[in-house]
Formats: sequence, structure tokens, C-alpha cells
Amino acid sequence: MEHPMVKLRVYPLASAMTLVACAPGAGSVQSTSVVDQIAESYVRLVLAVGEHDTDYVDAFYGPQEWRDEVTAEQLGLPAIVARTDSVIDRLRALEPPDQELERLRYTYLTTQLGSLAARVDMLGGRTMTFDEESQALYDAVAPTNPGEYFLSILEELDGLLPPGRSIRERLGAFQSAYVIPPDRLDAVFTRAIEECRDRTRRQVDLPEGESFVVEYVTDQSWSGYNWYQGGYHSLIQVNVDFPSLIDRAVDLACHEGYPGHHTYNVLLEHNLVNGRGWPEYSVYALFSPQSLIAEGSANFGIEMVFPGDERVEFEREVLFPLAGLDPATAASYYRLQELMARMDYAGNEAARLYIDGDVDADGAADWLVRYAMYSPGGARQRLRFIDQYRSYVINYNLGLDLVREFVDGNGADLALDARWDRFMRLLASPRLPGDLQSPGPP
Ligand SMILES: [Zn+2]
Repeated sequence: MEHPMVKLRVYPLASAMTLVACAPGAGSVQSTSVVDQIAESYVRLVLAVGEHDTDYVDAFYGPQEWRDEVTAEQLGLPAIVARTDSVIDRLRALEPPDQELERLRYTYLTTQLGSLAARVDMLGGRTMTFDEESQALYDAVAPTNPGEYFLSILEELDGLLPPGRSIRERLGAFQSAYVIPPDRLDAVFTRAIEECRDRTRRQVDLPEGESFVVEYVTDQSWSGYNWYQGGYHSLIQVNVDFPSLIDRAVDLACHEGYPGHHTYNVLLEHNLVNGRGWPEYSVYALFSPQSLIAEGSANFGIEMVFPGDERVEFEREVLFPLAGLDPATAASYYRLQELMARMDYAGNEAARLYIDGDVDADGAADWLVRYAMYSPGGARQRLRFIDQYRSYVINYNLGLDLVREFVDGNGADLALDARWDRFMRLLASPRLPGDLQSPGPP
């Protein structure tokens, strides 16, 4: 893949802070136990799948010799399946632990290994429906919504937009007034990242030296990507193929950076890999249940750092002027954005219909334009993403909903500190979709 690099920028954190919300107790770095051996086997199996599937290993910062040995061994798919089955059997023979974090670890390994086996089956030619695949890989199934559901949202959108031709064309004309001029893009992103970092650091103690680099790239199926490097560093790539609307700055700054992927990975490394000596978090299998937590918490992170109207206020007062946009129109833009967010699941439907063979590529692109209000070019890019990542798409919106329910559930109006306490249980612990039923007592 080519990544024509436009600009590099490093975001270091100046002050030294080492405490974390879920810091391990004294003596928590354990000597090698059966679970530790299983955890190492898990890491090696993820790396072995990565030898067959270049997208599978999203991050690895464990011992280099493990990777070298796995590469040298060149396990075939049937051998990976056999080894995975035997590791799962070994794990199941153990008594599930009582202590919460140990229990979450046990569940994590069991669930991630099951997902890994499913991915190997897929690589071996097994076909599944969209829902079967998302259940097998991510331990979750997204709700189904017919086209009529989205039509009712489109009617509301129709009423919000100035009169004219089709809704899609009127939406495009409306949005064109909110494009960040390319020569101001970096300044706007930089300011958004600073704000998200400051707001996150008010709630979360991050380890000393954490930082990331931002690169602007083109010709990718995704719009942004966090490549976690280990050592508390990320490489964040921002795809500039399409014009960036003003809301994208905060979206990306939160999702990829603070308190999203960068923060999540830093905390897992700090608390679990370094703090407890648990090696399984030094590898990140992309097509696995952990991705639902990662994407869901990255999306929900926006609501954590900008509760209530604070996002609109910040963007109106700071980012709109920085981008040279008219702040007086910020409120109407965000009313429209709220409505657009309700259409997020339309993208899942397009992916489900397409993966299940109910529509071809043109039909899926048409669905995205018609019900999810993608531009024709944006729909083609999204289709490229669906071709590459398939049912992964559910992790963004279903993940967001499940994380929101975990943090804000019961309809209770929780104080900000209580919300952060729950949110941190996700970011700093090995929770998976099946562990999101209840946050438990504070
Ligand atoms: Zn993401």
C-alpha cells in the first residue's frame, strides 16, 4: 500500500504521570502460570494467522523472537486450527477464577481464541452469512432495519434542508458550506487533538511519554487509522481523499486519539502488559471481539469528553473560526448531524445485503446513497471498506450503542465522575462484548 505522506506532526505529553485508574496491586506481576502459557500460545496463534491474512494483526509489540519463530514455523491453516482447539481445551479444563480481572482475562482468552478459529475457517474457504460471521468473529449481531425505517428519518431530513432537488443533492449543497479548507486542515485537527487530550487528561492519568504522530494519506478504504506501535506510541493516519467536514476534526481526534484508540491501547499496555505481565494484550487481532470494544469506546469517547452541548460550543467558538466558517450556523449543522447519526445503521444494512449476496456492488452503493446519504464517491469508498473488512462494520455503531448502555444504562442521570468510572472499566480492563451487560457496583 502506498501512503503519500503530506505532513508529520508529533503530539507528546509533557508531564510525567504514571497512575492509572485501574492500577494493579503490589506483586501483581505473576510468575508463569498455566494461564500465562496459554496467553503466550494465543499471541503466537494470532501471529500465525497473520502469516495468512495481512489485515489480521493490527498491532504487536511483544517479543520479536516470538514473531520470528512464528514466521519461521509457517504453520498451515489446519495446524493452526488443531493447535487452537488444544489451547481452548486446556483453558476450559481450568477452574474459572473468582477475582474479577482474572475472570475477565479467562473469558477474554476463551472468546478471542474461538473467534480466531472462526477466522481461520473463513480463510480456509468456509462461507457464512453476515450475521453468522459477526457472531463468530465479534460475538455480536447487529439489529436489522428495513429501508422503510430509514425513509422515516429521511423525511425528517427533508424538512430540515432548504427546498430544492433530491435530498442527497440538497444535503451535499448544505454540507459544502462546512468543508474545512485544505490549507487549514492541519491547524483545525491540531487544535481538536489538543482539546481532546486536555479533556481526557482531566479524567485519566496517562503514562509518561505517551504520544502519537499524525500522517495525512490518500487512497485508502478507511477514513482514519490508528496503528499502535507499543511503548505508548501510535501512528495515526488520516485519509484526505475526500473533503473534510468540520465535525470530522473532533471525530478523528477523539476516535483515533483521546480517549479513543490511542488511549485504549496505552492503558492496556500500561495496566495489563507492563503492570500484570499479561502478554496477550501485546497483540491485537483485528477481526476479533476486542474490536467491538475498541471501535465502540472510540466512538463513545466523543460523548465522554464533550458531554451535553459542550461539543457544539467548542466547535462554534474555536474550530469554526479557525476553519474560516460562519459560527452562527453551527447549531443548525449539528441538528442535521444528529439526524445523520440515526442513519448509521443503514451502512450495516448495505453491508449485510451485499455480503449475503442479496445485492451486487452497484446495488449496495445505491443503498448507501439512497438510505445512508453517502455521496456516490463516498459510497464507492465505503464499498471498498466492506470488501476488505466485511461484517467489521457493526463494531462502530453497535459497539457505540453497547458501550453507551454500559456507561449510561438504566436511564439514570449519572454524574460525570461515575460515567468516567464506568468508561475506564472498559478502557483499562480486558472486557469483551459479552461482559457489557452490567458495569456492576461502582
Ligand atoms: Zn476505529
